[in-house]
Amino acid sequence: MSCEVALPVPLRSTFTYLVPESLAERAVVGARVLVPFRNRALVGVIVEAARRAREDKPLKELQDVLDPAAALPPRVVELGRWVANYYLAPEGEVFRGMLPPQIDLRADRELRVTPAGAERRRALAARGNRSEAEVDELALLRLAEIEGQPVRADRVGKLPGGTRAAESLLRRGMLEAREVARRRKPRTQRIVAWGRTADGADAIPGTEIERRLHQVLSAETGPLPFAELLRRTGVSRTAVERLIGNSILASWEEPLVPATAATALEIDEAPPSHVLNADQLAALGEIRGWIESRAFTVGLLHGVTGSGKTEVYLGAVEAALAQGRTALVLVPEIALTLWMGRVCRARFGAIVAVLHSGLPDVERVREWWRVRSGEARVVVGTRSAVFAPLENLGVVIVDEEQEPSYKQEETPRYHGRDVAVVRAKMESAVALLGSATPSMETFHHAQKGRYRLLQLGSRVENRPMAAVEIVDLRDDFRQSHSSEPISGALQAAIARRLAEGTQSLLLVNRRGYSWYALCRSCGASLECANCSIALTYHKGRGRLECHYCGYSRAVPKTCPKCESKHLYFVGAGAEQLEERLKTLFPAARIGRLDRDTARQPRMWQQLLGAFADGRIDVLVGTQMVAKGHDFHRVTLVGVVSADTQLGLPDFRAAERTFELLTQVAGRAGRGELPGQVLVETYHPEHYAIAFAAQQDYLAFFEKELHYRRMMHYPPFAALASVLVRDARLENAVKWSREIERFFTGATAGAASGGVRVLGPAPAPLARLRKEFRFQFLLKSPKRAELGRLLRAALDHCTRKEIPQKAVMVDVDPLSLM
Ligand code: ADP
Ligand code: ZN
Ligand code: ZN
Repeated sequence: MSCEVALPVPLRSTFTYLVPESLAERAVVGARVLVPFRNRALVGVIVEAARRAREDKPLKELQDVLDPAAALPPRVVELGRWVANYYLAPEGEVFRGMLPPQIDLRADRELRVTPAGAERRRALAARGNRSEAEVDELALLRLAEIEGQPVRADRVGKLPGGTRAAESLLRRGMLEAREVARRRKPRTQRIVAWGRTADGADAIPGTEIERRLHQVLSAETGPLPFAELLRRTGVSRTAVERLIGNSILASWEEPLVPATAATALEIDEAPPSHVLNADQLAALGEIRGWIESRAFTVGLLHGVTGSGKTEVYLGAVEAALAQGRTALVLVPEIALTLWMGRVCRARFGAIVAVLHSGLPDVERVREWWRVRSGEARVVVGTRSAVFAPLENLGVVIVDEEQEPSYKQEETPRYHGRDVAVVRAKMESAVALLGSATPSMETFHHAQKGRYRLLQLGSRVENRPMAAVEIVDLRDDFRQSHSSEPISGALQAAIARRLAEGTQSLLLVNRRGYSWYALCRSCGASLECANCSIALTYHKGRGRLECHYCGYSRAVPKTCPKCESKHLYFVGAGAEQLEERLKTLFPAARIGRLDRDTARQPRMWQQLLGAFADGRIDVLVGTQMVAKGHDFHRVTLVGVVSADTQLGLPDFRAAERTFELLTQVAGRAGRGELPGQVLVETYHPEHYAIAFAAQQDYLAFFEKELHYRRMMHYPPFAALASVLVRDARLENAVKWSREIERFFTGATAGAASGGVRVLGPAPAPLARLRKEFRFQFLLKSPKRAELGRLLRAALDHCTRKEIPQKAVMVDVDPLSLM
């Protein structure tokens, strides 16, 4: 028998292995296996089992099956295969992202002497005078040969000059390296139990100490880990050791199963649970009906900010659990998993697991297996948690479904929300997408009746939406004649909040001090050495930095192009706003939240915590401040330069701007106090800004939909981008031409299937991380056609020997930069 294994290599195929008799029983679909692959040992997943081996091809055997039961449930394997196929991603790379981190394996490098190496050893041994390097080589070759076995690479390092000799011999083909995986010894713990006499009866406790131990081990708890026994009874280590020696106590080693080693759950204070209002009840009633019907349904919960969507989510989870099914809750940011995890744990207790990439490996492994074993039945997580190994799924919830962070911007380039819908379909479950500003695609589906629309039209307890006012920066400049980033109106509004003791939140679209530096003499901006993008000035660090590749340089005194001394800095980022606020309001407590001040989710959480507790008066930050948070004392939200996104060459620029403004406006007035929002802009007439100010989602949607229809953009066409990239311009050009020839042929006349191919054109970011980039944009009224054409294009690239990493396909791209 043989099986198909998905391996974490960038190849769009699976690999066939023989299943040895001894492993046949455990080699099932979804099992993690260890296999030999090109001198390495890799961990893969069985995606198809028990196919008859073809005789004509010599096949290698599975080396090991790693888990007693399949790691991935069959439905999840099916989902992974769908993702690979739909997003044209290598199957193994998809599955790699679906498995828990591998902490139970260790890779060792081994070196073997080749025939050429043996020859060399004989030649060197026969020679009289040897150079120092040759002495080292000989020592190494001897070591490898004397033992007759491969030498572990870590031993080579201990020979004098060993590492250098090994490198040289490897290069000359005299040694061969391979990687072997070994299982780590499972961690164990020592368990202590009350001893038994030969006839199986409890040993009789004699002393006071023995009576105490007997009481605990025999009556109260049963066998206990050594350390815990000491803690509980207060008996000394030596006393227990002695009793084990006397067979009064029994003891053995037991593997430490990650799932049972869980640390004590943090105690959560239960948040106030609310009596649901009529809108919430109506929405929940519908959702419950869908879950009970066990038919695949997608619902869109369109609720304005502060309308109480979270309570509806909790109700949906409860409904699924009540049926003995499981639930998945996806949120767009790691920081929100902490919050949502706490809310869910307060409601559902220890059956809640939290999964995200920010967790330390051991913790992630533990949570993952808790889910897999069925112990955890509610999963809260970010994008990748859509692959959580839950079985019997009842509902999957995607909060803030419009968030771009659901899209993975590296291979596999999947969209977590769309995968959630597919998963719900495969499991006859309910997908519930929630948002105040649904994406164009989702709302369009709801309008067409493919998704069921549920609405929460007003805020809880009839709190008013915050009033939004537009500050026209052109007027402000005419009055003040200064290019102050904080307009007069916004300054006055902040001053008022400080006087009355409530809080303000300021959104600015960029971090750093200034967006870019320009030369007044030649007009050049200072660009990244690796990317075609202007560098951002960071004053605190005194550097110019690239936000794409991390390149940074000192601030030059003169223009690198023309040597003029007249460099000036344009655009105020978060760092500069913070500085301005401190100057304007020296007595106020100012905080800044962006990726410079909060590198880890914990720091982010701390800053938000300080703001929530009222230890910060004015918080300025990037879009990190805009989403999801529920602060009750924020009465002012200021948006500094609402326009920055509108200028981007991206068909979603208006949608993003509208959404960001609506979301951030939704942070004001969520408590008892009414809120006010000030939006600074140079384009008050732009529909994205005007409708956001009116908080009119429907009006924006209609207008934007009209534009999308005219331009053949989603949701009216399926879109894909093909990016060709290489560090050498001539390669990028040559390969783009080759692909262009293919597309021209494949879409000529009747063969087109309605697919239109635009490009190649330089990508908006024409150079990124030293690579030149050309882009094709494919639009198709039919999705299936698009998939077929892309697949054919990739096959063509393989035939023409265009390196796989030079061609990047993005199906349903979110960003076209
Ligand atoms: P959304 O996610 O829709 O913006 P949230 O779910 O964060 O809104 O709810 C906003 C606030 O309203 C929260 O503080 C929440 O505790 C509160 N809330 C939710 N439902 C009710 C209710 N029925 N009555 C009173 N307050 C509620
Ligand atoms: Zn210059
Ligand atoms: Zn760069």
